[in-house]
Order: sequence, then C-alpha cells, then structure tokens
Amino acid sequence: MSQKKRIVVIGAGFGGLEFAKTLHTENAELVVIDRRNHHLFQPLLYQVASAGLAAPEIAHPIRAILHDKQNSTVYLDEVSSIDLAAKKVVARSREFPYDYLVLAMGGKTSYFGNDQWAEFAPGLKTLDDATTIRHQLLSAIEEAENTNDTAYRKELLTFVVVGGGPTGVETAGAFAELTRKVIPRDFSHIDTREAKIILIEAAPRIMLHLPEDLSAHTKTQLEELGVEVRVGAMVKAIRKNEVELADGTLIRASVIVWSAGVQASPLTRTLGVTVDRGGRIEVSPDLSVPGHPEVFAIGDLALSKGNKGKPVPGVSPAAIQMGHHAAKIINAELASGKIDVAARPEFKYWDKGTMATIGRSRAVVWLGRIKFHGFLAWLTWLFIHIVYLVGFRNRVAVLLQWAYSYVRYRHGARIITDNYSATFQGRPKVT
Ligand SMILES: Cc1cc2nc3c(=O)[nH]c(=O)nc-3n(C[C@H](O)[C@H](O)[C@H](O)COP(=O)(O)OP(=O)(O)OC[C@H]3O[C@@H](n4cnc5c(N)ncnc54)[C@H](O)[C@@H]3O)c2cc1C
Repeated sequence: MSQKKRIVVIGAGFGGLEFAKTLHTENAELVVIDRRNHHLFQPLLYQVASAGLAAPEIAHPIRAILHDKQNSTVYLDEVSSIDLAAKKVVARSREFPYDYLVLAMGGKTSYFGNDQWAEFAPGLKTLDDATTIRHQLLSAIEEAENTNDTAYRKELLTFVVVGGGPTGVETAGAFAELTRKVIPRDFSHIDTREAKIILIEAAPRIMLHLPEDLSAHTKTQLEELGVEVRVGAMVKAIRKNEVELADGTLIRASVIVWSAGVQASPLTRTLGVTVDRGGRIEVSPDLSVPGHPEVFAIGDLALSKGNKGKPVPGVSPAAIQMGHHAAKIINAELASGKIDVAARPEFKYWDKGTMATIGRSRAVVWLGRIKFHGFLAWLTWLFIHIVYLVGFRNRVAVLLQWAYSYVRYRHGARIITDNYSATFQGRPKVT
C-alpha cells in the first residue's frame, strides 16, 4: 500500500489551481476535482457576455495546465458531499479518501432568496451564463432590426444591469460600447446608438468599495458612454422582460443581467462548521477549518480576517494568495511528517489594489494612496489582466483581439449559435 499522503483539492479556480501548482508532490499524491473541465478567468466574463471575446479565450483545460504535475490526477466530477469525520469526499462517480483536504469551490450567484428571478435575469458566473447573455443581447438587436413596432423595438433595445459593483459596471460599459461604437454601421433599420443601457444600484452610489471620488469618476465615465446610472434604486421583482423597482417603476427590457450578489458554494452549509450569512466558512488564522486542521478553506468560500483584522475580499488575488499559503503549510508538514498547528504561520492578505474597466479605454484604479482613472488606468488594467490569464495561447489571442478591436472598433465574437427564431416565438410581426 502506498505510504504517500493524499491531498484532495475541490475546485480548480484561482485558489485551487494556485494550491495545486505550489504543492510539492514528489512524495505525495494530489487529486484535483472540478465539475468543469476548464479553469475560468472570471474577471473577463463580461467580455464574452458583450461579444468582445470568444468563450475559449478566457478558459483553459485544467488537465493541460497540470499535465506536468508529478503524482497528480485531475477528475472531471461534481462533489455532492463531504464527510469531515470519515475524511472522505463524495463525488458523482466515486469517493475520495484524503489526508488533507482543500475546499476551493468558490461561490455562485445569489438572488437574496429570490431564486425565481434567475430564469429572467442570468448572473455572470460561468461561461454558460456569459454565452446566454450574449445570445439574448445579439438576438434582441437582430429582432429590433426586423420589427417595425416602435414600442417593441424600444423594449428590445433596452438592457438592464442590476448591481453597481465591478461586474455590473464593466458589463454596462461594454454593452454601451458595443451599441455605440462597434455595431451601428452594421444595421440598416435601427440606430443601435439609441439603445438604452440602465445600471441599477440599491446603494446611494456605485462601486461602494471605492473611495467616493473614484466612485464618482466611474459614474461620470459610464454616463459619457451613454449608460443611465440609477442609484438608490431597489429591485422589487423581476419577471420575463420586466424589472419592477421598489418605487413602482416598471422597466421593460430584452436583457436583464443580475450582478448584485454572490454567495459561497452551497456545500459549505452542509459541513456542520460555522459559516456567515453568505455561506463563507469562518476559518482559523492559518486558513484551516476550526476543529479540522487537515482541512483548509480558501478563496471566495472562506471568511478570513487576514486583512489586518478585516475580512479578506472575494477577489482573485486573495484566492491565489490563500492557495499559496495553504500549500506552503502542507509542504512543510509533508516534509516534517506531522501536522503541527502551533508552527503554522497566519495568513496575511497583500492588497494589490482595486480596479475596474469602463469600456474600451477607460478604467479606475485604486492602489492604496494612488488613485487614477482614464486611459492610463485602462492600460494598467489591461496589463494586469493579460499577465494573469492562464495559457500562452490565450494571452496572445486576447491581446491580438483587443489590439484589433481597439484600432478598428470591431468585435470578433458576435456569432449567434442558438436558435434565434425560437427566442422570439409569438412576438409581434412586421406589419
Ligand atoms: C463576473 C466576475 C468578474 C470578476 N472580476 C474580478 C476582477 O476584475 N478582479 C478580481 O480580482 N476578481 C474578480 N472576480 C472575483 C474572482 O473571480 C473570484 O474572487 C475568484 O474566482 C475566486 O476564486 P476561487 O478559487 O475561490 O473560486 P473560483 O475561481 O470560482 O473556482 C471555483 C471552482 O470550483 C469548481 N466547483 C464548484 N463547485 C464544485 C463542486 N461541487 N464539485 C466540483 N467542482 C466544483 C468550479 O467549477 C470552479 O472551477 C470576478 C468574479 C466574477 C464572477
């Protein structure tokens, strides 16, 4: 029987992948389980949703990333439960006993108890979400070109994004750019520059995590692009092609994107450990799960106070740093041959700053005392996102694609693959 310790990691997102890369596996067995076969660069999902990039350009097969990793096996499988007492992970195809376990399943879109809205307002968390939104967006514009019913056309050319955080801002900005700059000359009967893009935020300002001046710059830059920003607007209900606000306003729209909330993987609530309202596991300072020193929780599903006593934010650098930290602890214990909780270092988050892009050449960047916006901020954003994209081919493809669209204002990913007619069955015909 093998004497090697078996380390199981669930999820090959930012945290799980960094963990797998950092772990020393010469004398250990690494098992990586993910329900998708690809690592996804979520920060660029909005580009796929707005037809700026094609789906494969922001994803990379997990097997290809880890194929050189010694003593490692990748399983495409979905974990359905975890038995912390018996030290085993239960997946669809088999069970995985472990010596160490790393929970890195990330999170999912949260509708704050209104899951029935999901059908009408997709979130932006997976490639499927992004391609669904892209299909709705491109098909609605085609349908607007086809119809001569004014009210129907107005609805078709109205796009609502709920949630004024980075994802909502980036998505609304990209929709505005597409309709204002990229496609107007491709259509004969409509002026796509008249499309209405509405960003709805319940709080008094967008980008609440940024200082007020940067938040204000973000709003100005969005408005310059033609986005209508509505702050202090609470969504009361979402129905098919309709958003109802708490003040009674009804907005008819062909595309409604929900980017107002995320929660941790639902598996965290089944473990019998302490979680917060968003389902995040309250981890010990070393990132282990209290009472289970052989189990670590990292990334979006972990609530760590390693940010100078404050919660570590749910961003990719945090997940990467956590994955690195957990791997270093396990490396040391594999070398010494024993779990030594007292010797474990605490996790300390290194905040590398916050940024968000607004359209083709605008962004806001906040690096501690340094704050800037506009084109330089956009270049900074571009550089960082390219550097962190996994896979040489992806980096080159994305850079070329962007360079081309930057110069020519062209979008290469505007292909509708689903059945266009089926989407608009029963809707008004040209009279
Ligand atoms: C649209 C969007 C834009 C974002 N923009 C930015 C940004 O600009 N900058 C930034 O820093 N951060 C951004 N983020 C946040 C960032 O993507 C997350 O913080 C980061 O992905 C968290 O990493 P993770 O490893 O915890 O989880 P993830 O990267 O979400 O990975 C989780 C993995 O677990 C797998 N998994 C889940 N459940 C199971 C299961 N039951 N069985 C098997 N596998 C499972 C999933 O398939 C996935 O591969 C953005 C997020 C989104 C959604």
